[in-house]
Amino acid sequence: MPSEPNHVLEFPGGYTRSTGPVIGRFLTELRAGRIVGVRTAAKKVLVPPLEYDPLTGEPTLPEFVEVGPAGTVREWTWVDAPRKNHPLDRPFAWALIRLDGADTSLVHAVDGGSLKAMRTGLRVWPRWRHDRVGSITDIECFVPEVTTIVANVRTEYTVTPGAALARYLDALTRNVFLAGRCPSCRSVYVPYRLSCPQCGSVIEEELEVGPSGTVTTFAINNLPDPRAPQVPFVSAYILLDGADIPIIALLAEIPATEVVEGMRVRAVFEGGAVKWFAPEREA
Ligand SMILES: [Zn+2]
Repeated sequence: MPSEPNHVLEFPGGYTRSTGPVIGRFLTELRAGRIVGVRTAAKKVLVPPLEYDPLTGEPTLPEFVEVGPAGTVREWTWVDAPRKNHPLDRPFAWALIRLDGADTSLVHAVDGGSLKAMRTGLRVWPRWRHDRVGSITDIECFVPEVTTIVANVRTEYTVTPGAALARYLDALTRNVFLAGRCPSCRSVYVPYRLSCPQCGSVIEEELEVGPSGTVTTFAINNLPDPRAPQVPFVSAYILLDGADIPIIALLAEIPATEVVEGMRVRAVFEGGAVKWFAPEREA
C-alpha cells in the first residue's frame, strides 16, 4: 500500500517562468491557431520546437516553419479509462503525430471514437479550442480526417413506362412479346424500343417474337427475392426466337440442377404478365 503523502509543494498563484524565444513563439502561434516548428542547422524541422538540436547540441536556427495542421499517427496507445487530468473524458488514444512538414513527432491525444478506428498511418487534424491562451492544450485533441459521410437517402418515385415500354406492356397483356426491328442494321430488340442502341436509327417496324426461346446463360440463386420467394430459383437470359438480344426472366418447373445452357424454354403467362419460363414440352 502506498502511504498517504505528508508533504505539499505549492507556489500560491502559480510559478511564473519565461518561455524563451523558441517555445514562446510556438505558444504564441498556437494561440493564433497555427503550429510552427524550428529548423535545425541540418535542415530538420523540429515540432515542438527546441532551442537546441537534440542530436548535435547545436542551437537551432532562428527560422520558424509552419507545419500541419494535419498529420499522421506514427505510434499510439489506447486509454480505455481516462483519468481526471486527461484531456478527454472518454476513451481516447495517446499518439505520436508527425505533422505534415515536420521531421519529429508530437505527443497528443486523438479522439478516435473507438479502438477500432485507430491505426498507424491514420490521418488526423487538430481540434482547436475557441478560447486559446498560448498552451499546447489550445489543441484540445486531434481527430481523424473525414474520409466518409453518411447521407440520408430516401426518394419516393413513380415509374412512367414511356411510349415504347407502354406498348410492350400492353402487348404482354395479350400474351405477346413485342419487338422492334432497326431499319438500318436489322437488329431485333425486345422489349420494343423507339431507337436503335447500336446505330441510333429510329425504329418503326414492330414484330412479335417468342414466346419460345433459348437459354443463353443462367444463375442459380440461393437468396430469397420478393419476386421469387422460394430458393433456390433460376434466373436466366433467354433469347426469344426472332430476337437479337436476350431478356432476363425466371426459369421454373424444372429442378435448378437440371437447367443447362442452350435449353429450349417457353413463356408461361399469367394475369397479363410473364409468370416465368418453363422447359418447352416435346410436341
Ligand atoms: Zn440499328
